[in-house]
Amino acid sequence: MNEKVLSFLVKLFATNELNRLPESYGGGRIFSNPIIGVSRGNDPIFQKFKKVVAPKHLTPIEMWVANELPDEENLSVSLRILSIVCPYSKEIREKSIGLKGLPAEIYCIGRNYANAFKIDIMEKTIKYFEEQGYKATAGMLSEVFTIYPGFYSTWSERHIAFAAGLGTFSLHEGLITEVGCNVRLCSVITDAPLTVTPRKSDDPYANCLFYSKGTCKKCVDRCPIGAISEKGHDKVKCRTLGSKIERVMNKRLEPILKPHYRRIDGQYFKQKPPVGCAFCQFGVPCMDKNPMAAEQKKSRNKE
Ligand code: SF4
Ligand code: SF4
Repeated sequence: MNEKVLSFLVKLFATNELNRLPESYGGGRIFSNPIIGVSRGNDPIFQKFKKVVAPKHLTPIEMWVANELPDEENLSVSLRILSIVCPYSKEIREKSIGLKGLPAEIYCIGRNYANAFKIDIMEKTIKYFEEQGYKATAGMLSEVFTIYPGFYSTWSERHIAFAAGLGTFSLHEGLITEVGCNVRLCSVITDAPLTVTPRKSDDPYANCLFYSKGTCKKCVDRCPIGAISEKGHDKVKCRTLGSKIERVMNKRLEPILKPHYRRIDGQYFKQKPPVGCAFCQFGVPCMDKNPMAAEQKKSRNKE
């Protein structure tokens, strides 16, 4: 069934108008083809997330029940969590490499338009499962999804993708997948019989060259305000530059950007659309691939 779901998503990404830049910016795709991974509802890692993300982070069963879906016998065994990786297009990446000061306009627009597209992906995937007689829901679409001021939420897509074996965390805190870290993520919980895609390891940093080999640190050099160091990623510093960029780019791109709403601490707010910064994700070894896997392949080929 995984292959069928992937074909459905590949078609959706190719044909959906929400995955398009405005005509004035060439009308190209925002995201290239997705990759998917699947975790199991009773994976003990979801209990671990209550420690590493926050006690308020929900398990798939808690999210399922909170969305008024039935808590049937053996539910945790049959639940599957489909995680979807949306990689930014080659065009957006190429136009973003090497920039300083302000990000590329097409990245800012893509970052903003991605939110409506992600919602559509999740809604259409839920419908896809329902049409085949299964139940489905999505954490991010739920009434209980909320962001808390300490930079965490009740449903972290990065952690859900990690659980599904799609990637690992890194020095700049992005999730490094097989198609890189310059991606957006979304997920759907279902009782459809998807095949679980196990994690290669539970090492949360296995794909990052710094954590695995002590090399690289290219993201440290790319960040203009020193928000990344060997100690990790300073979210507060990062947010300071993010807000500055938001002010400038929102003014410049105002007629094109879509309105942005967020539920913070349980309340809906209209916010200045986040347009991203992400200098640390462009032109680095993990932008569009898993750099550890690439190095391992290279050394195997030399032998
Ligand atoms: S640029 Fe290098 S050090 Fe930074 S997250 Fe990517 S792989 Fe890790
Ligand atoms: S998003 Fe921007 S400010 Fe934040 S760490 Fe990356 S380069 Fe630095």
